[in-house]
Amino acid sequence: MSTLKAVRGTRDLLPPETALWNRIEATARTVFARYNFGEIRTPIFEDTALFARGVGEETDIVSKEMYTWEDRARAQSEKTQTLTLRPENTAGVVRAYIEHKLGETGQLQKLYYIGPQFRRERPQKGRYRQFSQIGAEVIGPPSSGSESPLRDAEVLDMLASLLDELGISGWTLHINSVGSSADRARYNETLRAALIPLAPQMCVDCQRRAVTNPLRVLDCKIPEDQPIIETLPKIVDSLDEESKNHFAAVTAALDMAGVPYTRNHRLVRGLDYYTRTTFEFTHGGLGAQNALLGGGRYDGLSEAIGGPKAPGIGFAMGEDRLVLTLQALDTLVAEKGHAYIAPLGEGMNPAALALARELRRAGLTVELGEGSFRLKKSFETAEKVSRRIVILGEDELASGILTVKDFATGTQTKVPRAELAAVLAAPANA
Ligand code: AMP
Repeated sequence: MSTLKAVRGTRDLLPPETALWNRIEATARTVFARYNFGEIRTPIFEDTALFARGVGEETDIVSKEMYTWEDRARAQSEKTQTLTLRPENTAGVVRAYIEHKLGETGQLQKLYYIGPQFRRERPQKGRYRQFSQIGAEVIGPPSSGSESPLRDAEVLDMLASLLDELGISGWTLHINSVGSSADRARYNETLRAALIPLAPQMCVDCQRRAVTNPLRVLDCKIPEDQPIIETLPKIVDSLDEESKNHFAAVTAALDMAGVPYTRNHRLVRGLDYYTRTTFEFTHGGLGAQNALLGGGRYDGLSEAIGGPKAPGIGFAMGEDRLVLTLQALDTLVAEKGHAYIAPLGEGMNPAALALARELRRAGLTVELGEGSFRLKKSFETAEKVSRRIVILGEDELASGILTVKDFATGTQTKVPRAELAAVLAAPANA
């Protein structure tokens, strides 16, 4: 029989790398809480229609990348449905906002999520078919101030603070405005006209986009197409006064708060629901897939999926890419546990478990050795995982005085059992 492997584009995350994932998630939760965000958890699969309407039929995600299946009825009371593994989480959050009538509270909703998303993309470094996103949405009825440019600036400030706190140095924030849906429609037509003579010289994807969704041409990464794209009209010239003023207010707040950014006229983002502010944070260490996160405002999304008017702004960060960036920055120090307990002989195993239990209950990270090991092997194993080793033999048990060796200093000391937890909790080298 052939051996079974994880499906292409999916992978197992193993320790010690999972510790880094946990640290990223814990930092995100802490920073989000400071900005008064609460967590939302939506289902991993949804009705396919949600993504078709919410993300847009013409997007690559919906037209090519979704994992969709017919879910057959199992009982008379059920009907066969077309379901999809979520390719992103904003549509699910907005569906939940509508379903639970969160807008009726009149309050601005600040929600974050952490979880897997699924897209059938061509796998490469930093691009997977199951990947994890950490994202957040700020959404509410217009009376809650959800349209205010201050909200955009606050979200960007939060992201800059989160990346800094994670230790990700050297990020770049790109921002742009894609205007209202009327501005976008106008710009789309301007682009469509401009592309008629140019598209035949461009890549096949651009030839298709020039007809179906001209805005997407600006996302093209094919080197030969770049000089042509540079000559195309810019969206800034299609924005109405209101959109221009909104964008100016966002950048004014960023300037005042000291959040650095660059304006990127080509940033229109891959999803149809964006209006006004769009943004992306990139990092040079990532190679071709250099986007750490992306997001923007989506003032018409709730209405597009059948809900009340609920302007909002949100983002999704690729957690896999945060991990890659942090690994490349090489700032990671493997955390070792407090102690390794080495029982001298198998007869000492039960006493070793009792000692480990005592120390763990005192809050220490303890690895429990094995009495059948020779002392040399215990020392070798212990040094890899712990800062100190505690030797437990008949004499130590009887006297209540344990031998502790500190690997950082190489010193060996005798410690009464009552003081053991405090000694092991002290930082190494102390
Ligand atoms: P999007 O939902 O396309 O705006 O993507 C937001 C962020 O999710 C991107 O900036 C990436 O960091 C991450 N991301 C998107 N697609 C993938 C993927 N296939 N694999 C890993 N990360 C991804």
